Amino acid sequence: MRQAVVLGASIAGLLSARVLASVYDRVLIVDRDEISGAAARRGVPQARHLHGLMERGRAILEEFYPGLTADLAAEGAPTTEVLRGSRWYLSGLRVRPTDTGLITLLASRPMLESGIRTRTLALPGVELRTGCAATGLVGNERITGVRLAGGETVSADLVIDATGRGSRAPDWLAELGHERPAEDRIDVDLGYASRTYRRKPEHLDGDLAVVVSTMPGFRGGGAITLEGDRWHVTLAGMLGDHPPTDPDEFERFAATLPVPDVHEIVREAEPLDDPVPHRFRGSLRRRYEKISQPVQGFLAIGDALCSFNPLYAQGMTVAAQGALVLRDWHADPRRFYREAAAVVDVAWQMSTGSDLRYPGVEGPRSVRGRVVSAYSQRAQVAAHRDPLVARTFMRVANLTLPPTALLAPDVVVRVLRARPPTR
Ligand SMILES: Cc1cc2nc3c(=O)[nH]c(=O)nc-3n(C[C@H](O)[C@H](O)[C@H](O)COP(=O)(O)OP(=O)(O)OC[C@H]3O[C@@H](n4cnc5c(N)ncnc54)[C@H](O)[C@@H]3O)c2cc1C
Repeated sequence: MRQAVVLGASIAGLLSARVLASVYDRVLIVDRDEISGAAARRGVPQARHLHGLMERGRAILEEFYPGLTADLAAEGAPTTEVLRGSRWYLSGLRVRPTDTGLITLLASRPMLESGIRTRTLALPGVELRTGCAATGLVGNERITGVRLAGGETVSADLVIDATGRGSRAPDWLAELGHERPAEDRIDVDLGYASRTYRRKPEHLDGDLAVVVSTMPGFRGGGAITLEGDRWHVTLAGMLGDHPPTDPDEFERFAATLPVPDVHEIVREAEPLDDPVPHRFRGSLRRRYEKISQPVQGFLAIGDALCSFNPLYAQGMTVAAQGALVLRDWHADPRRFYREAAAVVDVAWQMSTGSDLRYPGVEGPRSVRGRVVSAYSQRAQVAAHRDPLVARTFMRVANLTLPPTALLAPDVVVRVLRARPPTR
């Protein structure tokens, strides 16, 4: 009997189990948390903060679990056209409302994870063991199993590390004499604070979401409608400019955003809980693809491979893209990491490129990077007026088109013609 063991039952672990279930007789998912229903839990503290699912990620989830979007919508998660029922602001300018063909599924993170978990566990051969931490890997030249808290070992033909950003797998590999992956870091000292509110239909004139991008010179945040007629409001600030959790100060911070939409909700809607904080120190990429002899029988995926600045809402989508790569290359670590690196590269360059626009963020700055950044800023201004640029920009941000789509001649002409509006 061929068995795969997946460490971590969050998004990346569940999607890994989904694709491995068609190859392995048994897929055992192990998580240190006790997990049930659509509740926030200790091992996924970020679930208490706003999570946007990019269209590319939603499309992959739909491929893995046909009907998921409609099912979650039937359970109360709203869906909307990205630029129609929701408002996007970049550098304080609203992206022009236009049809994009992109769908936003406004499910809470716990609801989305729970929906994926239920469907994954319904697959033949997939089992979940909760309340059980992995403490090490077993094997020599090849990884042949995992060690669990309490000392038990479980043998495996393939072990997937989906334990997230705090993964200890590099240490575990080193203990067995294997090379540790190099790490790339871009520190941003980002702070989030989030709170939920009761939603009334008249809020935001009936729109379902507003996203105010955090940019140099602009604090950011967002509010999205969730199942249960709630607003989920998150405020954000980079480089130590963290939103406070005291309710009055939370409201004052919301008032400093470049547009009033989020503040209106914070001021007018009835709060349902207290603000909760989250600190994100920086993006972290583990370069397994650079290891000359990647170990057989072990692969890392999701945040364990690369954890992105959450402002750009890429993590779940890149985890889903990683699962597609896993489906094709689970038996070939070298090829898996090469293909996964190509996927990560796109999102990494977009997000770290944006972060490096802050003079206080340290990292490699190239002339090409500066040109791309200046062009991207101009594209954001153009997206305020021009439907083609707005549509292309949103498709690139949603990872459904490559960034080079913004260099198509008809887009370039419109971007270069753009002038910031006089306020
Ligand atoms: C504040 C914040 C906001 C975010 N917003 C967005 C967003 O808007 N859009 C988006 O796409 N992404 C967002 N992300 C990223 C997103 O949460 C992750 O990319 C996504 O959850 C995939 O992560 P993962 O499954 O790899 O790991 P995680 O979600 O971190 O899960 C790791 C799992 O491993 C388990 N685990 C850990 N150690 C062990 C162990 N030793 N043994 C057994 N189990 C273990 C944990 O209990 C947990 O279940 C955000 C992240 C943060 C921090």
